[in-house]
Amino acid sequence: MMPWHWLAADGKDPEKSASYYPPALMGMRGSHPGSFETAHSLRDGTFWENAGKPQDTGEAYDLVVVGGGISGLAAAHYYRKAAGANARILILDNHDDFGGHAKRNEFRTGHAFRLGFGGTFSIESPAPYSAVAKAMIEELGIDVSSYSKYFDKDLYQSRGLRPTIFFNKETFGADKLVANFHPRGGGESEDAGEASAELFKRFLRDAPIADQAKSDLQRLLSEPRDYYPGLSSDEKKAKLARISYAKYLTDVAGVHPDLVKLYQALPHGLFGVGIDAVAAQDAWGFDLPGFEGLHLDPTPGKGMNRDAIPNEEAEKYFFHFPDGNASIARLLVRKLVPGVLSGDTAADIVLAKANYAKLDDTASPIRIRLNSTAVRVKHVGEAASAKEVEISYARGGSVYTTRAKNVVLACWHVVVPYICDELPDKQKEALASAQKVPLLYTNVLVRNWKAFEKAGTNSIYAPGMYHSYVNLDQPVSIGGYECARKPEDPIVVHMMKAACQPGLPARQQHVAGRMELYTTTFETMERNIRDQLARMLAGGGFDPARDIAGLTVNRWPHGYAYEYNSLFDSFWLEGGETPCEVARKTFGRIAIANADAGAYAYTDEAINQAYRAVGDLVRS
Ligand SMILES: Cc1cc2nc3c(=O)[nH]c(=O)nc-3n(C[C@H](O)[C@H](O)[C@H](O)COP(=O)(O)OP(=O)(O)OC[C@H]3O[C@@H](n4cnc5c(N)ncnc54)[C@H](O)[C@@H]3O)c2cc1C
Repeated sequence: MMPWHWLAADGKDPEKSASYYPPALMGMRGSHPGSFETAHSLRDGTFWENAGKPQDTGEAYDLVVVGGGISGLAAAHYYRKAAGANARILILDNHDDFGGHAKRNEFRTGHAFRLGFGGTFSIESPAPYSAVAKAMIEELGIDVSSYSKYFDKDLYQSRGLRPTIFFNKETFGADKLVANFHPRGGGESEDAGEASAELFKRFLRDAPIADQAKSDLQRLLSEPRDYYPGLSSDEKKAKLARISYAKYLTDVAGVHPDLVKLYQALPHGLFGVGIDAVAAQDAWGFDLPGFEGLHLDPTPGKGMNRDAIPNEEAEKYFFHFPDGNASIARLLVRKLVPGVLSGDTAADIVLAKANYAKLDDTASPIRIRLNSTAVRVKHVGEAASAKEVEISYARGGSVYTTRAKNVVLACWHVVVPYICDELPDKQKEALASAQKVPLLYTNVLVRNWKAFEKAGTNSIYAPGMYHSYVNLDQPVSIGGYECARKPEDPIVVHMMKAACQPGLPARQQHVAGRMELYTTTFETMERNIRDQLARMLAGGGFDPARDIAGLTVNRWPHGYAYEYNSLFDSFWLEGGETPCEVARKTFGRIAIANADAGAYAYTDEAINQAYRAVGDLVRS
């Protein structure tokens, strides 16, 4: 629901109400009810039929930013740097909170306060951060190299907890929790050094998969074969870019289909699809079995998928706040709008409570207007010579207009053609192709983690279940925030679901998954979550009725930016201009940012694209 029940005394702005505090809401979050209906009616062509006459706010800005995610916030930051401290900037976002995918979830039970990440998890990227993105992180005061000070990396292992795989009876014939032998096989890879013979033996003994699958797995791991004899490394990589890992396993390596079932959901966290739609080249990049005998040259070359190129510098650049990269969004907001968040270090942002009443304050040159969907963005006159852009937005059942010298569209690219009709058709087509990846990021507050301890696991890969990954919260204590250290402590359990439909091309899987997420009620999701936790942790005595204290489902039907996939996007292998390059072209006074503009689902790209978009505007 839109938060109009929070109406303030003036009857207009729910955000001004003292009780307005979205991070503490539970239930269906992410793209919550009330956030998307306007955009959908624009898509369906019904919005303007029912909209009243737009009311002129009389406001004029130097810049209006559509989209209050990290890209939009970063765009405001860069624009102010270029235009000066007095630059007047308005940021519009359709959600009831700022940050876009960088979403903070708060929980309280008894005296315990717990944070969860409702979207963007951490500072990390397969390729090193650009100088621009690194400079932003530093400017926000985040010292990435200090992460080990805050992260209790041995907590779970020291109590005998380790990554496991849950085999479910619908997929594998029996419900069974089995120790995971593979360092990349689900959750954190604490056992990299110990991916040992002993673990593997236990796995072979316990896993409910066919004996043939077990011996095939042994063969894959211990008898490397060259399945493409006579081909050069480049020729082999080119083949691997065009075959899915699932097909590679069955048709090239000749393994039993149970291994496909086992590995099917492994890439869900990265791509939102399974190994039926992920290239074998990427599987090689993640160190999955079956490639050792090919002796591939790890040097990046033409036609390489980005995740297929391991990069040590990138791997080391990692930082996780307890609320994920919501801390980045909050650090940006603290810089942009005075009075919203107190403090002056990256650590003290963690416990700072946002004052939403200050976000859209007439006294501040930079304002953030939530619950506001941009519905039309149009130059006043010809784009080439216009001095202004008119922006219309829907809020609380009315339509308003405002004007700005410049606009950055930092929203999802699929939305842009519906709000910016004057763009060239070719650009609109490219924008529309930026398919988003549908995901659920679920946070379950449990009263304690004794059942996890008893079951001996902190991280479960569950290839056949509703959520394919389940993790006890990453133990990080920072800025006065204390993570759960004892099994008796309440903790957040994070669960991840990629909504997809194996067998279809990736984009079609995303469309089907999005429909699934929209049409599934919260009650059904909750039932699935309770059932899944009870089954996986049956050995630990988990009782959902007793142990669950809170539940937030962050539903992201428009989740990750779509990353080009060598199985389905031939242009990616052929070279030339990519759709995102066409989509992000600046048009008159309207520039286009968002992680979609780089077809790359990472925070650094959201920042890079904001920097480029603002650069286009201030240079012109
Ligand atoms: C579940 C999830 C986990 C992720 N994890 C990571 C991670 O661990 N590390 C990482 O680097 N990246 C991660 N990402 C990628 C993430 O997308 C980027 O990190 C970054 O946060 C994207 O920022 P953005 O501003 O480009 O887009 P968004 O955060 O999507 O912000 C765009 C905003 O524009 C709004 N909008 C759309 N249309 C309109 C309109 N018409 N009017 C007003 N507002 C509009 C949207 O609702 C949204 O709030 C994750 C993404 C998701 C979905």
